[in-house]
Amino acid sequence: MRFYRDLGLTEFYRRPVDAAVSGDETLAAGEAVDSAVAPEPDRAIDRTSVGLASAARTESQANFFGEEPIINTKKGFIAPAQADAVVPVEERATALQAIREDMGDCTRCALHKARHTIVFGVGDPAARLMFVGEGPGADEDAQGVPFVGRAGQLLNNMITAMGLKREECYIANIVKCRPPGNRTPEPAEANTCSPFLFRQIDVVRPQVLVALGATAATYLLGARQPLAGLRGRVHAFRGMSLIVTYHPAFLLRDPRQKKEAWADLQIAMKELGLKR
Ligand code: URA
Repeated sequence: MRFYRDLGLTEFYRRPVDAAVSGDETLAAGEAVDSAVAPEPDRAIDRTSVGLASAARTESQANFFGEEPIINTKKGFIAPAQADAVVPVEERATALQAIREDMGDCTRCALHKARHTIVFGVGDPAARLMFVGEGPGADEDAQGVPFVGRAGQLLNNMITAMGLKREECYIANIVKCRPPGNRTPEPAEANTCSPFLFRQIDVVRPQVLVALGATAATYLLGARQPLAGLRGRVHAFRGMSLIVTYHPAFLLRDPRQKKEAWADLQIAMKELGLKR
């Protein structure tokens, strides 16, 4: 209910999902709905997404959650091929541990210099739903667990609103070490780290992957598009369904976008066969 309240959807649980998506009076006063930007949950799967993660922006920039990614396609990054073998459910925890051991006390990119902890990922190794964020912040760097700060609290509320528990999901980031000052990871950093994430994804093989924000969407999909063009539909990704939505940190800054994020999460719920 907390995320519903955050959304201003205090009576949402009594209303059909589609009514809420289209923005009827269940939305709180002051949360005017722009139906032109309401996503279409039934939109066909976008088969153009091939799971190529491109490198990246031309320059280091301030964190750009929710804004347009700038990708230098000349330095494209090809996502590792998907592992053929599906790891049996009972072996997934061990397989994830093996990836963690391969990382070791990683010094592969400059982010290791200022980090306190490698934030590998957390959750059910056989989760049906996985979230991918950008990179650890200060709280995550201190605790070694993704999404435990304010953005994490909001993510928890989003998961609860979907009718799930955080422990039922798997949560990771594009980079596993905190970028200084929470800046956006550099392309070299993201491209060095993300192969480990791809291996995690291939082990967990979630049915649905949710990319939180432009950085996650950029490096997972190699999408040279504004977030707005990626949201609101299902992308085919390594045999899974990938949905792009706003980063919780962006939603904290601009809570008016929560209803759009909720519409994206409902697409994820539909893919998972979850009822509202
Ligand atoms: N933001 C992220 O992208 N990831 C975290 O783990 C925390 C905040």
